[in-house]
Amino acid sequence: MQSQCILSVQTPVGPPVEIIRHTYPAAQSTQPTKRVSLVAGLHGDELAGLYICHRLMETLKNLEAQNPSAFKGEVHVYPAVNPHALETGTRLWPFFSADINRTFGEKNTPSLVAKISAALLDDLKSNSDLVVDFHASNLHLMELPQIRIIKNFEKKLIPLAKLCNVRLIWIHPHAEIFESTLGYNLNQANIPTLVIETGICLRINKNYCDPIVQGILNLLQQTGTLDLGETIAEVASPKLVQPDHVAMVHARSAGLFVKQMQVGKMLTAGEKIGDLIDPGRAREEVRAPCAGLLFTLREHPLTGKGAPLARIATEKPFTP
Ligand SMILES: [Zn+2]
Repeated sequence: MQSQCILSVQTPVGPPVEIIRHTYPAAQSTQPTKRVSLVAGLHGDELAGLYICHRLMETLKNLEAQNPSAFKGEVHVYPAVNPHALETGTRLWPFFSADINRTFGEKNTPSLVAKISAALLDDLKSNSDLVVDFHASNLHLMELPQIRIIKNFEKKLIPLAKLCNVRLIWIHPHAEIFESTLGYNLNQANIPTLVIETGICLRINKNYCDPIVQGILNLLQQTGTLDLGETIAEVASPKLVQPDHVAMVHARSAGLFVKQMQVGKMLTAGEKIGDLIDPGRAREEVRAPCAGLLFTLREHPLTGKGAPLARIATEKPFTP
């Protein structure tokens, strides 16, 4: 493994901001079959990706020592691309509260954060044929391991997403807000990029991370990047969810949401998901509007009116 600092920026306080890329080169000196990059920590409070990268780097390190000829292609790992936010455990870049994953692409006003995102994007573009960008959810919602794909890119990305051992692939309609994300800009540049979302921020849930570790090894194997022989475990087939097959459940009033379910449950129509309580007011039972797979569930009890409580992947198109 070789480690390289792709960007170092001096700051007025503390040590410089540095982004490190770890590279596992192909065994032969000829062109690598495929160059795959794994990116984690764009949001500094999303720790699941760091854990997944740690597990994968452990495996790759052992493989390098025991079976170096397994590396047919090249693997790059960028395990902590927003180090300042990570130090403080915050989603946003701490000095200007900027979301680094909304600063990619041409349209952004110049800033230090935009400089960092530009350097990361350039480095990924020159070193990757395929990218996986790991995320966890925000403070409020627990997410079943899933890959989110913007509709324009579905043809190229679905076959790759199916290799990653996630529980579902959610096709999103295009929205302008995605245009400044890393995933969108790489896909626009014809570098297929999968955005994986799992669990919740500031926590590591092994049950939601370990299958993805297996899935990424499978992705590396199936794309010819690694040759792991027979040792690779079979991966589960994800549920493919079209935009109109998602039922959103929102809070009808403000209160404390007390969940009564876990994500991953197959719900029947009318099944109770939890309660919305407010001292002095009648308890409101929250029920599934239709049958389907519960893939998002509110974890943070403090709930404003209209806040999301759950998402359910349905079998038939859902109309509220
Ligand atoms: Zn994120």
